[in-house]
Amino acid sequence: MIKQSNLNGIYMKTKSKLIITVALMLLALSTATIINIALNIRDLSIQSAVEKSKLAATFVKDGLTAHMVNGIMDNRTYFLNKISNSEEVKSLWLVRSQNVVKQYGKGLSFETVRDSIDKEVLRSGSSVKKIIENSTETLLRVSIPYKASLNDNSTNCLSCHDVQVGDTLGVLSMEFDINSMRTSGMLTILKIFGVNIIILLIVLVLLNYFLAPYTKLFSSLQSGIKKAHTGDFTHNFETSLDGEAKDITNHMNTLFVKMKETFGDIKQNLGTIVPQMNISNDNPLEQSKVIMSELSDVYKFKKTIELDANKSDVYMRLVDVLKLKYNIDDFAIYEINNTIESRKLCYSSSDDVLICKEKVTTDASLCRASRTKSVIISSEFPELCKSCRKPNLNYLCFTFSINSEISLLISVVGRSKEDINDKRTLVSRIRHYLEAAKPVLSTHILMQKLRETSLIDPMTGLNNRRFLEEVIDKIMSQTGRRKEIYSILMLDIDFFKQVNDTYGHDIGDMVIVEVARVLKESIRESDLAIRYGGEEFVVILDNATVEGTMQVAKKIHSAFDNLIFDVGAGETMQKTISIGISMFDEDADSIWKCIKLADTALYVAKTTGRNKIVVYEQKMSEGPDVR
Ligand code: GH3
Ligand code: MG
Ligand code: MG
Repeated sequence: MIKQSNLNGIYMKTKSKLIITVALMLLALSTATIINIALNIRDLSIQSAVEKSKLAATFVKDGLTAHMVNGIMDNRTYFLNKISNSEEVKSLWLVRSQNVVKQYGKGLSFETVRDSIDKEVLRSGSSVKKIIENSTETLLRVSIPYKASLNDNSTNCLSCHDVQVGDTLGVLSMEFDINSMRTSGMLTILKIFGVNIIILLIVLVLLNYFLAPYTKLFSSLQSGIKKAHTGDFTHNFETSLDGEAKDITNHMNTLFVKMKETFGDIKQNLGTIVPQMNISNDNPLEQSKVIMSELSDVYKFKKTIELDANKSDVYMRLVDVLKLKYNIDDFAIYEINNTIESRKLCYSSSDDVLICKEKVTTDASLCRASRTKSVIISSEFPELCKSCRKPNLNYLCFTFSINSEISLLISVVGRSKEDINDKRTLVSRIRHYLEAAKPVLSTHILMQKLRETSLIDPMTGLNNRRFLEEVIDKIMSQTGRRKEIYSILMLDIDFFKQVNDTYGHDIGDMVIVEVARVLKESIRESDLAIRYGGEEFVVILDNATVEGTMQVAKKIHSAFDNLIFDVGAGETMQKTISIGISMFDEDADSIWKCIKLADTALYVAKTTGRNKIVVYEQKMSEGPDVR
């Protein structure tokens, strides 16, 4: 984040840049003006000197003519000195042409040819202008020829000079010091420069004065917008300017107040919704965006699992989240029953992720994550969980409570220490999904429990007839697929009514419970014993032959036969049981039909003396007394 002091620095720089640019532009303008003026001054100095030379030439010519006419030509030195003593004329001399020398002599000592320019002008009759520069001075040399004219106003040269019209009478050479002119020009330039500098300073001061509120406004805008980026809308925009700038600050303040009202304290609100998620102060708005997207995903997940038919479907949805959203490949999900401390595997990505020792299944208290209800990660202490099958495994286990009885355990296996450490950060995010799944899962768990209760006979602990009705289709489809033979045993206690009548219902119940115990002890785990009615039982034997079925029936029959019931007052009682048998896939092609045939066989057993085992035969269904 850019601090206020940095921002001010940036705006100061911008302002300085602007001022420097304006200053440079003004300086460039004044320099150009000064160069222009300087060049003009040089031209003007030369021009002015040339004009002066022409004036001086006319003046000298007229003066000398006057001297000549008045016969005071010998006094011309004074006149010429007067002119040469003028400030700008450095020197002035006359040169006589050969014609004049011939007629009037050489003249005064300084009236001789001094250099090649004099010679050139005498020869050509044309004036020469030349700038002579040396280390100390700059001179403008002007040499002008005097030509004989016939009627130059009132003067007729030929009246005194013995020459032709147009002949050169002499040359007037002058040297003008244009340095002094330049010096005065330079002074002018300096004055202009000084004035420019003063104007420049005034402009800069004014610029600074007028720009300051704008830079302050920009700084305020920038600082407010920076804060807004992080979700902080508390900035108050201020300006000393009026008009549009004032409107902008007013609009921004209104906008920020609305934003603050709309978003509220995002950090606080989201913290309430997702307390596990850390919302740092760095950029709560950006983090809020991430959290909102996460919440949206969790919401979609919740809506989806609400339509799932059972717990297993919900677990598979969780598996999808772990795999697809969080890229966790190796993990297992367990259901822990905290009441009986047992553990059931619900999902495993592969056998490699089953890293716990076998005994944890029956004693969930051996699972450190389950016992401590904390996140167990191997990167802290490699041998942290004593129930881990192998040393040096990288694992991360944590539980999540669904209800007072059931918790979920998620056990993630990592490829390396770094890998498992990375996954540690996902725990709080996975918990959001578990939190969303919690009500759905607890409903499914409750429903399952209710169903299980309604399918179990509470007196005997055997499944009831309703259960048989529910599972019958499954049994049928499996049988059809595996082509296995089932056999059905239908059992009924002989003369049971007498027990009730003689010893009461409690003794009758005890006898029923004992039948159930005998059944459980006599069959395999894959077989099914069902309390079919009052004292009627059905046993479904899995994959059994007629002989095998007969064996089980005899085992039950004799075991029950041998039971001696204590009926109180020192008395005992013994009971017998009748059993009817039928074979599925042999006698019948539907299980209900098969049960019916077993019942028919039982009926035969009952009507032919009881206390016996009767295997169904076709002829039993043919007689007039068929049940
Ligand atoms: P049979 O040899 O022909 O089977 O004679 P039975 O007396 O056993 O006749 P039946 O099988 O029809 O008798 C069923 C009796 O079982 C009727 C009912 O009073 C009794 N009974 C049914 N359920 C229970 C129960 O849960 N507890 C007790 N104590 N008696 C029950
Ligand atoms: Mg009966
Ligand atoms: Mg009976």
